[in-house]
Amino acid sequence: MNCARLQQVLDAHIDGELDRATASEITAHLAECAACATLRDQRLALRQALRTEAPYFKAPATLAPAIRRSLEHASARPAASVNPPEINWRAGPTWFHAAVFATVAALVGLISGHWLAQPLPDYPLRDPAVASHVAALAPTRQLIQVASSDRHTVKPWFQGKIDFAPPVKDLGHEGFVLMGGRLDQVADKPAAAVVYQVRKHVINLFVWRATDRAPDAIATSSMRGFSVTTWAADGMRFAAVSDVDARDLSRFAQLVSAP
Ligand SMILES: [Zn+2]
Repeated sequence: MNCARLQQVLDAHIDGELDRATASEITAHLAECAACATLRDQRLALRQALRTEAPYFKAPATLAPAIRRSLEHASARPAASVNPPEINWRAGPTWFHAAVFATVAALVGLISGHWLAQPLPDYPLRDPAVASHVAALAPTRQLIQVASSDRHTVKPWFQGKIDFAPPVKDLGHEGFVLMGGRLDQVADKPAAAVVYQVRKHVINLFVWRATDRAPDAIATSSMRGFSVTTWAADGMRFAAVSDVDARDLSRFAQLVSAP
């Protein structure tokens, strides 16, 4: 783990999203590197400031029952008078208007709170996949445990080592040369990593058992200088990570996922 690699995965580390092996490498580096430790402290301070100093408003406990009562009251009225009366501005808005406004505001708050709490659909997969990619490229790690451009060598190698059979395709004619495979982890889940190379760029294709409800469609995005493509099929989840162009990685994913 060097400073550049650490900084690429620091946010994921702070959020506790990395596998244990990478996390302990980072912890060891932080203990020895003052520059990276300072960076970590700054991120932690920022996070703390956001938590304690950003404005946060809690609705009073009486609001929800008040809205419910007012809506029940409104719907119990004869149809003609349910239409909101003209606002007499001198008299101020009526309780009815206030209730409608409060309901809308509560819904907006609920929706935006829900949205803020939900990461982007493929986000939970991208971060650990990038972290595993970065970790696998570290000089101390073994990128390839079975080295072969022959899928009939690479695919059987996974048998008995994991409880699913990752697809291994020969895509050399498309410019994606199979280099081999290894056992890895994505977010502490056992994963097969099928390694390809395109124009000297390494592609790690991570495959693990799907246990979440993230979307299945192929989605490509960029993250800290890497391209990441995620999808799911056949009860398996896939994440291809590389520093290659996003279009190339998208094409790679199309080829891998093609029947
Ligand atoms: Zn450092």
